[in-house]
Amino acid sequence: MRKEVCWLALLLIALLGAMAVTDQLEQPPALRSQSAPGEFDSTRAKLRLAFILGDQQPHPADSAADDQVRARLVMTLRQMGVTPIVRDELACNELYKQRGVSCARVRNIIAVLGPAGGKAVLLNAHYDSTPVGPGAGDDGIGVATLLEVAAKLKERTLKRPVILLFNEGEELGLVGARAFLADPLSRNVDSLINLEARGVRGPVNMFETSRPNSVPISIFAGAVENPIANSLSTDVYRLLPNYTDVNSFAERGWLTLNLAPIGNETRYHSPGDDIAALDPDTLQHMGDQTLALTFALANGKPNAAAGDSIFMDVAGRALITLPFTIGAGLLIGLLLGFAVLALRRGGLLQSGAIIGGTLVGSTILSWLLFELIGAVRHGMFWRAHPIWTHLTIHAATIFVGVVLLTMIAGSLDRRRLRPTFWLILLTIGAAIGLIAPGGIIFFIFPPLVAVAGIFASRWWPRAERLGSYAAILFLYLTWGAMLGLLEELLNGGPMWVFAPLGGLLILPILVEARPLIVGAGLRAGAAVAGIFTLLSVAAVVSVPAYSADRQQRFVIQHVSDASAHKSWWSVLNDSAPLPKDFDGQWKRGALPFSDRPRWISQAPFNLAAKAPSAQLLSQVKAGDERTLTLRLFANGNERIELIGPSDARLRSAGVEGFVRPIDHTEDGKYFIDCFGRSCDGATIQLTIGQLKPVRFLALGSKSPLPPSAAPLIASRPRFARPQYNRDESITFARVNL
Ligand SMILES: [Zn+2]
Repeated sequence: MRKEVCWLALLLIALLGAMAVTDQLEQPPALRSQSAPGEFDSTRAKLRLAFILGDQQPHPADSAADDQVRARLVMTLRQMGVTPIVRDELACNELYKQRGVSCARVRNIIAVLGPAGGKAVLLNAHYDSTPVGPGAGDDGIGVATLLEVAAKLKERTLKRPVILLFNEGEELGLVGARAFLADPLSRNVDSLINLEARGVRGPVNMFETSRPNSVPISIFAGAVENPIANSLSTDVYRLLPNYTDVNSFAERGWLTLNLAPIGNETRYHSPGDDIAALDPDTLQHMGDQTLALTFALANGKPNAAAGDSIFMDVAGRALITLPFTIGAGLLIGLLLGFAVLALRRGGLLQSGAIIGGTLVGSTILSWLLFELIGAVRHGMFWRAHPIWTHLTIHAATIFVGVVLLTMIAGSLDRRRLRPTFWLILLTIGAAIGLIAPGGIIFFIFPPLVAVAGIFASRWWPRAERLGSYAAILFLYLTWGAMLGLLEELLNGGPMWVFAPLGGLLILPILVEARPLIVGAGLRAGAAVAGIFTLLSVAAVVSVPAYSADRQQRFVIQHVSDASAHKSWWSVLNDSAPLPKDFDGQWKRGALPFSDRPRWISQAPFNLAAKAPSAQLLSQVKAGDERTLTLRLFANGNERIELIGPSDARLRSAGVEGFVRPIDHTEDGKYFIDCFGRSCDGATIQLTIGQLKPVRFLALGSKSPLPPSAAPLIASRPRFARPQYNRDESITFARVNL
């Protein structure tokens, strides 16, 4: 084999290796073997959490299991010498990014540290879990952090009060946060640190702040030693359907910092979210940050709101911040500068075809490859080993880049390709900035370094190439780390989005390697890159889809329509075919209460199944609105839902003191939800914006499944578990209100 081909093969292996470890660029710092006095001690924090979670049962709000968790939490606080206040309230909160209201009896645990007077810092975490899992990460990590931070705060004098809020009912719709806002103590708060989790490992990201963000960001940058935060992910988060207590707290305008780990979402809201899986490094990272931020906030006073900043960390070592206006100015200046340079050096059309063609071509090729792989592999086949899927995409990008570079190269040298690459990167940065303004931070410094090299090359010719190398290294440390984060965050797909995102990192390296690639020639270059792509595809096709750690989502439900005397078995999974030995005739479909596609098979009607009911106590009409007072009857269910059609025009709903508006800028069905023992017999108020009766589904759910589910449970695949929904019995009936 020719020398160039060998070198090219080695280079591509190194490049793919670098792309494979982008997720390692940002990790929590290694655990200390011993914490110094005054430092956050994650070992102690985890021991407390293990005690509080006890036998690690799911403990949703107002359940017997949550009573036990609360009792142990209160006991722990007392043993620490902290006096807890328990507030008990039947409360409701509006749903966010959805139409509806959710209610539950919640018992918030509050403790106040430091001086009695003055504006307070609120530290918030929730101690309830979802009904699906033990919630060691979500939000046990927050509870454990708050307790250990409290232990450290007690050792020091504080200038301002610190309120610890262990709220209940976050998982049901931020009900505990709403109840706290009705508490007089909340009027004293001016800053908030919120602790959450969407995973069990990896670094703890600071992913949301109040706006304008300059003040919270400067406090964060000053206090935190290993910052993992950037203004692209804060903007991306706002576009996602996820929400936290901060959504409810936001109306008070507190200075806010929101922290959460996102590593390994396959355990989130599942029985896999357990103590053993919770990484102590992650807990340590959250603890160190929360302690430092609390001291900074409790010993100073947040300044008045200033402007907006854009920011990013460099490999978790330092935080770069810029005022947004300066960042935007730099981006536009660089864009114009590189446009002039690219035009002057010539060949813009061909170099544009190579760069743009690689970004577009790799996206199409990745999409095509995964369509083909989808013919033989079903569901989330990348779940256990996503790395091979990512490598396939990056190898495909390299393949397209190598082919285009050798085909179109002609008289193009690196001097012409470089400015075009940076010009296209800046254009993409500007486009991202239109949707997520904070995103431009990633697109300023690498081209700035590159342009400095080009400028210096007037006096020292090698400066341009060295500047280019430095720019690529900086791009890798920042954009590469962001790519690792996005691969974790968008793990549900579609996977082809990582082609153009990864292409921005791969392309400048291919540009610098152009002499080698052209030297190897089209056939040899394409063959080498093609072989790497095929090898990755072979790995994607052959590695197991699920593992003990990263299991398949698999929810078994028994559903009964009490009005029509019908029952079904339902399986919610990643749409992969069911195991062959799974009893029954299964087909894909939807059920009356949800449009979500699922596996369904007929079941004998369960005579014992009872839907919840609502008794109309009174109705008051005003104009074209009517307000109903209803008494709910659970009839043995743990959860009661009234589901209204999308034209129901519900205006508000709730219990006394907590009648909440319903967001009708959203679309879809309406949900009035009540969870827990106190819903049976509860009185709710419902305002409907029309006089004619509305046909609701009254839906109840409870665990466990009926005994007839035993064969299905037994044949659930080995590496599969419920996630987001629990195994449960659902019964519904139609009611006109
Ligand atoms: Zn949570």
